[in-house]
Amino acid sequence: MAKTPSKAKSAPEVENTKVQDSEEKSVISAHVSLSHSDGEETEISIEKKLIALFNLQQIDSQIDKIRIIRGELPLEVEDLEDEIIGLETRIDNYIQEIENLKGQVKEKELQIKESLSQIKRYEEQQMNVRNNREYDSLSKEIEFQNLEIALAEKRIKEFSNSLNLKNDEITSAQKTLEELRNDLEIKKSELSDIVNETEKEEQTLLAKSDDYQRFIEERLLTAYKRIRKNARNGLAVVSVERDACGGCFSAIPPQRQLDIRMHKKIIVCEYCGRILVEHGLASKAE
Ligand SMILES: [Zn+2]
Repeated sequence: MAKTPSKAKSAPEVENTKVQDSEEKSVISAHVSLSHSDGEETEISIEKKLIALFNLQQIDSQIDKIRIIRGELPLEVEDLEDEIIGLETRIDNYIQEIENLKGQVKEKELQIKESLSQIKRYEEQQMNVRNNREYDSLSKEIEFQNLEIALAEKRIKEFSNSLNLKNDEITSAQKTLEELRNDLEIKKSELSDIVNETEKEEQTLLAKSDDYQRFIEERLLTAYKRIRKNARNGLAVVSVERDACGGCFSAIPPQRQLDIRMHKKIIVCEYCGRILVEHGLASKAE
């Protein structure tokens, strides 16, 4: 922060920048002399314009990269948060299922109690029967109730088994949840560190980008910004690589390559519209 004071007003300070070099300084001094000599030196050479544009592109690309990295990091945190919510929902479902099973166990226990009291009633009635037929009929009822009890007990056993399984699942899910929450804490603090760090870096680069932009004429800068906006990778200035455009890889005819090297005017790719610089200029400006 303290290293980039009031850059907007004066000529840019070029210490602690990586891209700056003698070319950059010469661009800057050329421009300074332009603005001081009132039209005596009317035009910055095309080569210097191209170098300034190329440098600006390097800085803006670094800014793009930082923003992409910072854009991807929160996704990891988001994924983790989603996973935690999913697990919490699963645990809630288990708890509900357990409550359900407990209710069903209770119901079966009541049913057994009911059957037992009915059996008791039938047995009492058997003491006072008038004939065998009545006695047998009550015996059948008792037998039926005993079967009901056996069935209910079987169901209770089944419910208890699933209850135990669900409890185990909850225990393991809670353990995983604990781990995920720890991971999330770590990721979140990492993220905020990186955000802080990259924001500082971004501010420095943005200030640098502004400095360069002030040394590029309005019309050219507008074109640069328009091309950058439309280019998928944010590249508006590319060098000629192996006789082709470094942006869209379309071949560039030899005569056009010669024109590019001559620095007579600013030349754009016929296919993608990006501003072309020769390969040598790119390495000069690095
Ligand atoms: Zn192209």
